[in-house]
Amino acid sequence: IENVKLKNVTKRYGNFKAVDNVNLDVIGGELLILIGPSGSGKTTLLRTINRLVEPDEGEIFINGKNVKEFDVVELRRSIGYVIQQIGLFPHMTVKENIALLPRLEGWSEEEIENRVNELLDLVALPREFANRYPHQLSGGQQQRVGLARALALNPPLLLMDEPFGALDPILRKQLQEEFAKIKETLGRTIVFVTHDIEEAFRLGDRIAIMRKGKLIQVGYPD
Ligand code: ADP
Ligand code: ADP
Repeated sequence: IENVKLKNVTKRYGNFKAVDNVNLDVIGGELLILIGPSGSGKTTLLRTINRLVEPDEGEIFINGKNVKEFDVVELRRSIGYVIQQIGLFPHMTVKENIALLPRLEGWSEEEIENRVNELLDLVALPREFANRYPHQLSGGQQQRVGLARALALNPPLLLMDEPFGALDPILRKQLQEEFAKIKETLGRTIVFVTHDIEEAFRLGDRIAIMRKGKLIQVGYPD
């Protein structure tokens, strides 16, 4: 289970500091919430971990190893990434979307079949959905497929950026509750971005609060 250390991380866009000297330790196995108003730097900070954003200053370590020392493709394969607009490939079935990375890894058809079924069970989608196309699913169902895809290679670290943000309030609450249940069985480190305080308290083991690029407080929900 991975721990993540962010050390004096700063990211500038021109003269503007989107992330301003952030120090943060993510403990292996916890679900850490990054919360703050829109524009406070949450997404930018999250993306420094899988190197979709390169910081101007500071360093990021995963289990003590600087992320710059990883091959970037390897790094991203070992980090599941779930975002709001999940971006399933419309011309590919649910199964093929989930199987994307396993196929690149050269898994056999049988291994893929088993893994897809296992993941559909995990995210509470009927196995028959494997042969559907994304447009035949609701927003919430597509989001579950996105989560299944992010988990396909069993990455020890999961980054989630407002994963339920596009859903209506009722569905959103339902997915939060289901996710609160499965996060224990997932047994991995999760950094989860949200601006929703209820979601933060429902899911977070710890909560880190950002404002104007700075981390202003980190603590347990109580
Ligand atoms: P949050 O996720 O908290 O809403 P972001 O990390 O997306 O915040 O953005 C933080 C700030 O950085 C915002 O003011 C945003 O406009 C700015 N920003 C983010 N990405 C870029 C970019 N690629 N170019 C310029 N400014 C950016
Ligand atoms: P390109 O610009 O050539 O499309 P990218 O830098 O977007 O390449 O992607 C490089 C590799 O990282 C690819 O294998 C891609 O699938 C993977 N990748 C890109 N973005 C993400 C992400 N957000 N999460 C996980 N893997 C990603």
